[in-house]
Order: sequence, then structure tokens, then C-alpha cells
Amino acid sequence: MRKSTLEKLCCPFDKANLEATIVAIDFNDNVQEGYLYCHVCNRIFPIVMGIPIMNPDEYREFQYEQPLYERWNKHLKGKSIDQFRLTAGSVRKSLS
Ligand SMILES: [Zn+2]
Repeated sequence: MRKSTLEKLCCPFDKANLEATIVAIDFNDNVQEGYLYCHVCNRIFPIVMGIPIMNPDEYREFQYEQPLYERWNKHLKGKSIDQFRLTAGSVRKSLS
């Protein structure tokens, strides 16, 4: 997904602007991996293979997203994920 397209997305729950954190881009400068963060509801939406995952909470499975967040640990800036929301909780020591 192009960076300029990412900037047009808003949170599907409260229509707030999303902050994009880019983890990986491809040779054409398209975002392949990263996440979108909503400052209003604290939800985090992962971008996987260029596709933002913006399903309602009940259609998301944390067990499928968890390996991404573990790999993106340094990009989460010391925060952790709870109920698809970015929290200030401590990061597990084994990941640092
Ligand atoms: Zn939101």
C-alpha cells in the first residue's frame, strides 16, 4: 500500500486520524509491513503484506497477530498490545 493511501485511512470506530509506523517497504516504496495507531481508542491495526487489517475486534484473532507484534517489538516503543489496543504495559523481557 502506498504511503499516500495510508494517510487517507481513518479509524473505522471513531473516524480519528491514524498514525502510521512503517516497518518494511518494498522496492517501489510501498508499505509492506507496519501498523496504524488510533490516538482516540488506542487500537492498533497491523499492515500485513501491504494490507491494513481493520476488522472489528470480534473478527480479529490475537493469536494470529501476536507473532507480528513480537517481531515488531522495537517499533512498538516499549508498549504492549491488549485487546487490540496499544497499552503502556511493560514488554516481556524475553523479547528485548
Ligand atoms: Zn479509534
